Amino acid sequence: SVSTEPRPIQRLKESLINKIAAGEIIHRPASALKELLENSLDAGATSIRVTVKEGGMKVLQIQDNGCGIRKNDLPILAERFTTSKLSTFSDLQKLTTYGFRGEALASMSHVAHLTVVTKTKQDSCAWRASYIDGVLSDLKTRQKAEPRPCAGNDGTTITIENLFYNVPTRLSALRSPSEEYAKILDVMTRYAVHNPKVAFICKKEGSSAPELTTPSCADSAMSIRLLYGHSLAKELIHIKELGSSSTQPDQPEDSDSDKMDEDEQESSKKGVSWTAETYFSNANYQAKKTVFLLFINHRLVESSRMKRALEAAYQGILPKNAFAHQNDTQSLQIDPRCVDVNVHPTKKEVHFLDEETITERIADAILQNLSKQNHSRTFEYQT
Ligand code: ADP
Ligand code: MG
Repeated sequence: SVSTEPRPIQRLKESLINKIAAGEIIHRPASALKELLENSLDAGATSIRVTVKEGGMKVLQIQDNGCGIRKNDLPILAERFTTSKLSTFSDLQKLTTYGFRGEALASMSHVAHLTVVTKTKQDSCAWRASYIDGVLSDLKTRQKAEPRPCAGNDGTTITIENLFYNVPTRLSALRSPSEEYAKILDVMTRYAVHNPKVAFICKKEGSSAPELTTPSCADSAMSIRLLYGHSLAKELIHIKELGSSSTQPDQPEDSDSDKMDEDEQESSKKGVSWTAETYFSNANYQAKKTVFLLFINHRLVESSRMKRALEAAYQGILPKNAFAHQNDTQSLQIDPRCVDVNVHPTKKEVHFLDEETITERIADAILQNLSKQNHSRTFEYQT
């Protein structure tokens, strides 16, 4: 109710702050999976296996063969703002990992039951630890509990159980298990397309064969074929655009910045360069829905500007009603100093220098290729 008298301002309880923060990052099983996949990739995994029960609402488990977590780090693993990926503000300008905020595992522990089994190469056994609200706990008694030794392979297995058991509004906003599972498969597919060197498996608990599986050592074109089918793969065009920009990235002005080494000074004089690799379907291909994947420095992101530009490119080429049936996978590499990933807690949105010029260059290249092909097709029909 609105009152005329000002009410006292109070500090929010820490547990409430944490739950609000968790709500921004974990919306549904698929958003938890995104964070877990990124952690496994950051850990250098070459094999990632996901097991799902009831659309990930009951159980979501991800097993990787990455570097593992040191036993000494387990007590603070699920605290907020604990990370192995960032230490100074200037690190943020040259980030090569997905993670840096140290919030994902913490968030999960506030809205689900989180269990970690992990082993580094140096460890003689694996360690199992569970967390409730950021704290090492026994899931049954909810009392504090130390990590326990157990059998296990090198790497990390993370299990999220009973997602949103303590957030009824979120729980009731979820769709059916099969719809949630479809979203999980969608996230897996996107990461699998972009990481052809990593073997991915996604499977419902109890189902006889995995719903998604890709081998490692495939290249991007091959993984697109495996994941989206041969009918798309044979109509795929691949282009690579290189560019450099005149705009200089701003140097960080933080007090804790470490001195730039000579290499960095050298490269910052040269200005910034970018590479864009694009796979897109030609005018022969029509599917049920449009798929547009954009990775900037390996990060799966969205860009409405880029999307509009590509739509416009296709619109010029295809008959009106055939539009919205295209497929485009794009991978952009930009000097990390020119990309700001710290725009949104889920990092779904990033800002980068020269967005307009880069977008225009790529859209032009696609349009050129499409019209070349369209031209030869018309020619064929005429003869
Ligand atoms: P961030 O990824 O932003 O660092 P997270 O909460 O996602 O934050 O993870 C916290 C830390 O836990 C990471 O920095 C990393 O050191 C460790 N970690 C999480 N998942 C894994 C994994 N699968 N393998 C190895 N280390 C992991
Ligand atoms: Mg992370």
